[in-house]
Amino acid sequence: MGPTAQSNIKTGHSNVKLFTASQNLSPASRALKNRKTLQEQLTERLPRLLQTTLELEQQLQLYFKELHNAIGIDGVEYVNSNENITYNIGRRSTHSCSYRLLTERDLNGEISFSRRARFDEDELQLIESTLGQLVYPLRNALSYRQAVQLALKDPLTGVGNRIAMDNALHHELQVTQRNQQPLSLLLLDLDHFKVINDTFGHSAGDLALKHAVDCVRHAIRDVDMIFRFGGEEFVIVLANSGLESSMIVAERIRARIEAMQCNFEGQDIPLTTSVGVATHTVGENIRDTLQRADQALYNAKGDGRNKVATLCEAK
Ligand code: GH3
Ligand code: MG
Ligand code: MG
Repeated sequence: MGPTAQSNIKTGHSNVKLFTASQNLSPASRALKNRKTLQEQLTERLPRLLQTTLELEQQLQLYFKELHNAIGIDGVEYVNSNENITYNIGRRSTHSCSYRLLTERDLNGEISFSRRARFDEDELQLIESTLGQLVYPLRNALSYRQAVQLALKDPLTGVGNRIAMDNALHHELQVTQRNQQPLSLLLLDLDHFKVINDTFGHSAGDLALKHAVDCVRHAIRDVDMIFRFGGEEFVIVLANSGLESSMIVAERIRARIEAMQCNFEGQDIPLTTSVGVATHTVGENIRDTLQRADQALYNAKGDGRNKVATLCEAK
C-alpha cells in the first residue's frame, strides 16, 4: 500500500475513508483529478463560447484564452495553406505540439500549441479533447469566411467588387490618416471596348478583361489592390504612393496593356487603356478623390485614349 492509503487507515474512520482518501490524494493524483475537472469544464464551456462568433480569428482568440487559462499555453498558431490563412495568437515558446484538423472529408488547417514547459500526456489528452470541440465551429467559420469572400469578388476576373473596394478604401483612408502617408487612386477604363465585343464577340471581350486584370496585377506591388468598378473599368488603390510614383505606375500599366498579347481563337485582340490618376489630399472625402480620377480619365479619353492623365492637384 502506498503512503496515502496507509495514512487513511491510520485515521480509522471507515465511513469517511473514501472521503479522506480523496482529500489526501498524492500531488500527482490531485493534479490528474483537477485536470479531469478542467477537461469537463472546458468540454462544457468551449462549444458555448465558440458558438458566439463565426469569425475565425475571434474563435481562435477565445480558444487560446481558454487553453491559456487552463494549462498555461503561451501561443497558438493556425495555418490553412489552402485558404492562405495564418494566425499567430499569443507568443511562440520552446515546446510545441501540432495537429492537423480533419473532418469527414476536409482538411481544415493545422494548429500548433506552444508553451515554455514541456507537455505531459494528460495535457496532450486535454488538448486533443478540446480540439474535438473546436473543429466543427472552426469549419463553419471557414465556410462563412469563404462565403463572405465570394460575395466580395467579381466572378469573371476574381478581383474585388465595388463593395470590397468601399471596404478597402475606408480602411486605407484610416491607415493614410494615421500614418500621414500618401494614397493614390488610378481609374482605368479599357478603350473602345464596345468595338472589341462587336468585332470579336462577348467571349473574346471577357477574355480580354481577364488578361487586362492579370497584366495590372503583375504591374503593381503586393500591397496595391485592384477592384472592378464597373463593366470595363477598374480602380487601383496605391497605398503609400504619391502622385509622382503613381503616374509612373499608371504609365507602366498603360504601356503593358498596349504591349499585351491577347489571342482569342486565333485572333489577336488589340487592347489599350486610358488611366486617370488622383492623390488623396488631407481632409478630402475619398469619393472626391475618385471623382478627380474620373475627371482625369475623361481628359485622357478626350486626348485620344491610350493615355495617362491627372488633374491639377490643388483642392
Ligand atoms: P471608351 O473608349 O470611351 O471607354 O469606349 P468603350 O466602348 O470602352 O465604352 P462604352 O462604355 O461605350 O462600352 C463599354 C463596353 O464594355 C460595353 C459593354 O458591353 C462592355 N462590357 C461591360 N462589361 C463587360 C463584360 O463583363 N464582358 C464583356 N465582354 N463586355 C463587357
Ligand atoms: Mg467605361
Ligand atoms: Mg471603355
